Amino acid sequence: MSTENKNVTIIGAGLVGSLWSLFLAQKGHNVKMFEKRADLRSGRAEAGRSINLALSDRGWKALESVQIDKKVREIALPMKGRMMHDLDGTTTFQPYGMEGQAIWSVSRSQLNIELLNAAEEAGVEMEFEVKCLNVDSESGICSFEDREGKNFDVKSDFAFGTDGAYSAVRNSFYRKDRFNYQQMYLTHGYKELEIPPGDGGSFLIEPEYLHIWPRHEYMLIALPNFDGSFTCTLFFPFEGEPSFESIERTGVRDFFEKYFPDATKLMPDLEEVYNSNPTSSLVTVRCFPWVFDDTVCLLGDAAHAIVPFYGQGMNCGFEDCSILIKHLDESGGDWKKALQDFQLERKRDADAISELALNNFIEMRDKVADPVFLLQKKVEARIQEIYPEKWVPLYSRVTFSHNPYSEALEIGREQQELIDKIMSVRDIENIYQKDDFKDLLKFYLQD
Ligand SMILES: Cc1cc2nc3c(=O)[nH]c(=O)nc-3n(C[C@H](O)[C@H](O)[C@H](O)COP(=O)(O)OP(=O)(O)OC[C@H]3O[C@@H](n4cnc5c(N)ncnc54)[C@H](O)[C@@H]3O)c2cc1C
Repeated sequence: MSTENKNVTIIGAGLVGSLWSLFLAQKGHNVKMFEKRADLRSGRAEAGRSINLALSDRGWKALESVQIDKKVREIALPMKGRMMHDLDGTTTFQPYGMEGQAIWSVSRSQLNIELLNAAEEAGVEMEFEVKCLNVDSESGICSFEDREGKNFDVKSDFAFGTDGAYSAVRNSFYRKDRFNYQQMYLTHGYKELEIPPGDGGSFLIEPEYLHIWPRHEYMLIALPNFDGSFTCTLFFPFEGEPSFESIERTGVRDFFEKYFPDATKLMPDLEEVYNSNPTSSLVTVRCFPWVFDDTVCLLGDAAHAIVPFYGQGMNCGFEDCSILIKHLDESGGDWKKALQDFQLERKRDADAISELALNNFIEMRDKVADPVFLLQKKVEARIQEIYPEKWVPLYSRVTFSHNPYSEALEIGREQQELIDKIMSVRDIENIYQKDDFKDLLKFYLQD
């Protein structure tokens, strides 16, 4: 089997495209990457707003493989749990995992810049402000339009569509026989807001947590930035009462003061930021195949855009890269086999995290404010303390593990059935901390 270097085109220099280009360049392939937007490093791109993402173990593993993790650690802040804010300002802490485990808040643009710099150093050629129009998998030709509106073609051995949820590469295959495609929007959208830094760049709320203001049908969250600010995101219905539509009529500040009073005190420019930031929608995309004529492959959001409630979209895209490179390494240069094995292994996991992410919206906006749910989390933590190997909570299986998402989903369902039974035991709120709880567990876990 040929292990020669290939000419590869990558379309989309976002998070997944930049990382994938780095993986391939480090293996010695000739990589050209094309991006619709201006170079983030040029100062002309819209890198101004600090939008951050939660990076967790699956993402870190991929970054470690290309030795960029240390650089990224320098721009990432650990969040060791959720901090829930009640209407009256009372806060409740819920750890994400065991002592020492955390997810990390990192600026999307800074992370992208680190990846672009590393990819360029590794020899990736990049062109910005060049839009992909179409990809022909039979001829291996990708068609582009440059910033002057001129069209040109690029022919390569393989092309990867890493051009996000609204992928032009994917668009090229809508009419292809037996290409399945599904797109689903939530009735909720989101808007980014900001808690600015305090004096001297201090944090006005604790930086070590992901803050949540759960309000049943909607929620506000906040993740820390290095400059002392927090990027807040309001997940809110587009229509109805209340909604983006209704509060624009009745007054944004009035609404915020009523439902997020402690956060609102820290947002002096609320109206200005609210009006200048877009209201964006949340889409789930499922499609298959991801590989066309053994030459073109979709990765990241282009293959499987998910809603952001498990903080896994980017992590999943980064894990795509880890898994595809594993298949390429194992295939001894048989790209056709590697691409097929990749899509067959990965599709069920992408579907699983897509489902988990949708479910977690309900958990974040509604259940985390429910005392029974919080008790259930404590009971689960106690079970994990007694059986650390056997009982790994679903959140940890998704966030702090490298086992397949589909396995996490399946085991999570079994665990939920068990925990429902355990939670229905009389006086569970007192029993779970006592020694007798171990006997009860033995019965349920058939130990
Ligand atoms: C509100 C929100 C919060 C999120 N929070 C998290 C989180 O905490 N953790 C997490 O892991 N994930 C999170 N995500 C998901 C994450 O943002 C995505 O999964 C991730 O950005 C996917 O990376 P990508 O490279 O596949 O796509 P993108 O980041 O969308 O990059 C695609 C790139 O392709 C370019 N492009 C598009 N079309 C063309 C074209 N025709 N020609 C050339 N270039 C093109 C785009 O300009 C862009 O640069 C969140 C998403 C949202 C919406």
